[in-house]
Amino acid sequence: MSYVITIDGPAGAGKSSVAKILAKKLGINYLDTGAIYRAIALILNSAEIKSDDELNIREALNNIKIELQDGKIFVNDLDVSSEIRTPEADKLASEYSAVPAVREALLNLQRVQIFHGSLIAEGRDVGSVVFPDAELKFFITASPEARAKRRFEQRKRKGLSANYNEILNAINSRDDNDSHRRLSPLKVPENAIYIDTSEMSQDQVINKILNIVAKKELN
Ligand code: C5P
Repeated sequence: MSYVITIDGPAGAGKSSVAKILAKKLGINYLDTGAIYRAIALILNSAEIKSDDELNIREALNNIKIELQDGKIFVNDLDVSSEIRTPEADKLASEYSAVPAVREALLNLQRVQIFHGSLIAEGRDVGSVVFPDAELKFFITASPEARAKRRFEQRKRKGLSANYNEILNAINSRDDNDSHRRLSPLKVPENAIYIDTSEMSQDQVINKILNIVAKKELN
């Protein structure tokens, strides 16, 4: 029997890295829903369709094919996996993801992933809206400062430019956008296990979740 584990939480809380490692350890699929929102936002922006132009957004979404394959994301057969990881894409994804037409179009694409087997889905509304009946739900968060520090160090490690204050401001503004939008705002899903990772290492978070998964006997 396939099962779903969801991880929701704000930007930079470490959800993606944790979800990716957990998926490997549990031998299940990983669904990065943020990547889908990022890809759609980039496409709409490059087609010069504004986020308040619902009519043209709906029209454009009918002609966009999104595919997830081996950790990569393709839009109309084009690999956009690296393009979606820029600060510009962070901002655009947060803006376009508030558009109801975008959320509606992506709902089904996320849900059908369960037909490929058990999965761990990570995002902003996966436990509350996309998979409300998930077997296990987590909400992973950390203080804005801890999240900004992690992003800052991550960018430095990759040899990318990084300014702590700019990163902190961007995180606060994304939190504000994601938490206050009308549709599917970021919130702790019902029955979700809340984990504040401000003072935890990645290994501690992973072990905590693995212990909870083991007790649940999902397989
Ligand atoms: O998780 P990630 O930072 O890649 O997500 C990028 C943006 O996509 C978020 O800031 C949020 O606005 C949006 N998003 C969303 N719902 C999800 C996943 C991401 O609205 N399930």
